[in-house]
Amino acid sequence: MDQALLSPNDDISLETALVRGGLRRSDFGEMSEAIFLTSGFVYDSAERAEARFAGEDEGFVYSRYANPTLEVLEKRLALIEGAEACHVTASGMAAVFTGLFCYLRAGDHVVASRALFGSCHVILTTILPRYGIETTLVDGADLDAWQAAMRPNTRAIFLETPANPTLDLVDLTAVAEIAHAGGAKVFVDNVFASPLGQKPLELGADVVMYSATKHIDGQGRCLGGALLADAEFCNDHFMPYYRHTGPALSPFNAWVLAKGLETLSIRVERQTRSAHSLAEFIEADGGARTVRYPFLESHPQHELARRQMKSGGTIVSLDLGSKQAAFAFINALRIVDISNNLGDTRSIATHPMTTTHRAMAVEDRAAMGITDGLVRLSIGLEGYDDLQADVERALAAAKSA
Ligand SMILES: *Cc1c(COP(=O)(O)O)cnc(C)c1O
Repeated sequence: MDQALLSPNDDISLETALVRGGLRRSDFGEMSEAIFLTSGFVYDSAERAEARFAGEDEGFVYSRYANPTLEVLEKRLALIEGAEACHVTASGMAAVFTGLFCYLRAGDHVVASRALFGSCHVILTTILPRYGIETTLVDGADLDAWQAAMRPNTRAIFLETPANPTLDLVDLTAVAEIAHAGGAKVFVDNVFASPLGQKPLELGADVVMYSATKHIDGQGRCLGGALLADAEFCNDHFMPYYRHTGPALSPFNAWVLAKGLETLSIRVERQTRSAHSLAEFIEADGGARTVRYPFLESHPQHELARRQMKSGGTIVSLDLGSKQAAFAFINALRIVDISNNLGDTRSIATHPMTTTHRAMAVEDRAAMGITDGLVRLSIGLEGYDDLQADVERALAAAKSA
């Protein structure tokens, strides 16, 4: 085995980490990472098996616990994020659920921002309460509300910034201060910003989660998730849960995601540039009631966006005033697909009210700012001029709807 692993202490650039982080070649000297599609491992003696199980001998035991292909992806992600440890899971939701459930106990309390991905909302408001864990939802932009919601038994703060699909932001540094003063850990769903657009751990977060399905694969091929934190959280809380409850990722999917990381920076940089230009174009067109993009000066938290994000991200949302206008806009698109994924190389339009957020109560949706006319655009890698022409045509269709 090639042991020339890059460690977080090596002074290497992000781009180099994306391509080479965690690379561990076998004796064959393969160029591309090998895929270890194996459920288990064998031992050369009974004594070796005993030592392996006792944790005295380094090595793999069973792919529900760890696998060499998953380890490449985990090391690469940890390097990019600047985290001590990383574990990858079968989906983004498996990372979120396992991350919270492994840490919380009956009687604990969670404070979360109201603007959340639909399934995160279900975990916090429906599933955790069944086990005696209560959640208070607050307006993520209101620091006084975060402070007021803290209780002596608050052990976790959960938030998403920018939030799906409204692109509302939460001040990570300020909320982390409130959380830590009260003895709570800060869990951040960093999907929208991507690992390149925002570094929550540097801003005070304790645990960062990703749906790797989004930008990390970014090519619509497989599901995956990741959790990054310090070694203590991973060893004392996450791993015991992960080993016994089985949210492990398939080695094949881990390989796809590791290859996805190799092109992440060039994809996300291009997609971000197009998203920013398109947001400016839509704003100048005037056909939408509002356009939201963190790096537009008109974003209500623009100053915060510039302070905590490295780039504005690949998602733009716009409000066309009514469901009818939103549908006219979406149906007039010829290049942009109608779907519910995001972060993909192919641009995607979503109407959250009738799709991703339809399971929510009407008043919860209203409180989150998900209006009838809201459309979420995930900007891909198509030629910018083609995307602008497509959106221009759709805005015209919405106006005459
Ligand atoms: C997609 C998504 C998830 C869930 O990820 P899956 O890989 O689909 O399980 C969680 N949070 C956010 C913000 C997402 O966009």
